[in-house]
Amino acid sequence: MSIINTFFESILIPHRNFSSAFLYVKIESERMQLKMRGTMKTLYDVLIIGGGPAGLSAALAISRVGRTALVCDSQVYRNAAAKHMQNFPSRDGMSPLELKELIKNDINKYEKVDYAYKKVIDIKKEGPLFVGYFEDGQSVQAKKVILAHGVKDNLETLPNLREYWGETAIHCPYCHGYELKGSDFAIVGEPEYTLHIAGIVKPLSSSISIFANGSKRYSEENLKFIQEKKIEFHPGRITNLSGLNHKLESLTLDNGDIYKKNAMMIRPPTSLSSDLGIKLGCALTSEGNYLIEMKVKSSVPGVFIAGDLAEMAHSVLIASTSGSMAGAFACSEIGHAEL
Ligand SMILES: Cc1cc2nc3c(=O)[nH]c(=O)nc-3n(C[C@H](O)[C@H](O)[C@H](O)COP(=O)(O)OP(=O)(O)OC[C@H]3O[C@@H](n4cnc5c(N)ncnc54)[C@H](O)[C@@H]3O)c2cc1C
Repeated sequence: MSIINTFFESILIPHRNFSSAFLYVKIESERMQLKMRGTMKTLYDVLIIGGGPAGLSAALAISRVGRTALVCDSQVYRNAAAKHMQNFPSRDGMSPLELKELIKNDINKYEKVDYAYKKVIDIKKEGPLFVGYFEDGQSVQAKKVILAHGVKDNLETLPNLREYWGETAIHCPYCHGYELKGSDFAIVGEPEYTLHIAGIVKPLSSSISIFANGSKRYSEENLKFIQEKKIEFHPGRITNLSGLNHKLESLTLDNGDIYKKNAMMIRPPTSLSSDLGIKLGCALTSEGNYLIEMKVKSSVPGVFIAGDLAEMAHSVLIASTSGSMAGAFACSEIGHAEL
């Protein structure tokens, strides 16, 4: 392990609440180390697209059995808007960046994994190997590929949503609901989401109201249920969100009515963060996710799917688990072929 790394570890690990600026310094130091080592190898056992919890957990599993991997990380993380990460046993409340650094400390002990902090823009199967192409013109070969590039949230779904996202407008009650305890919750969206979430956030809330945001999909049965449960229901389209310093204060509807709410549950539509799997020929589901044929296996031999791309439930712990599984499946296939 290099002197630079040891120095940063010694100042980072004892202090859990240091600013994220330190973490960026550490990432920079890793970039320097990569350059100093004469850049990356030309062939790896596994090419991992994504340096979030899924990709890093895959890398840890791979390095533990003596295989090599390159983690490609364009440094766009889904939970970047959240200062802290909840509901990860033993790491509850830690900054998401710090968790990634701790996983890298684990990986780096085995000296089998390199990092490329740049975007992969194309990927092809050439003979028995996969070839990944970076935005700077470099390329790298690998025997297997793990797609852990995550999904992106379409925050344009409501005006100003970006301003409150990850703080007072959230998608997952297990991630950030407790921090909004005692709030007046607006639960926004289609009935499958709002009716599911209403019962989950009720114990945390001062009040809950459902905002259909113009959806015509609320059935008579849904509306009867909402009425019986005495939940406030607003069918109109939301035209504005207002507040100060990322703290939501009110919602405006298309009829001009304003409702004071200081917390919002909403699940914006998501899409794949990259089309690399499509370029490889991976089949998609009708919802636009990668089709998983078995556990973490895609429809293309040698290509595995991990993290938010692989799971219905999106959380750091679940992403890590599927990453670890994808790493193990990739190594098992390589090991079997090379025995
Ligand atoms: C606002 C918010 C708050 C959240 N809070 C919590 C929480 O408190 N607790 C919790 O458990 N979960 C939380 N989540 C969910 C959690 O963030 C995700 O489930 C988790 O990050 C998924 O991990 P991942 O590795 O699959 O993807 P990501 O973390 O999104 O990582 C994707 C990686 O792929 C890289 N990438 C993408 N395309 C390319 C490319 N072409 N080339 C190279 N690299 C590429 C990105 O740079 C990144 O490194 C939150 C989500 C959001 C939106």
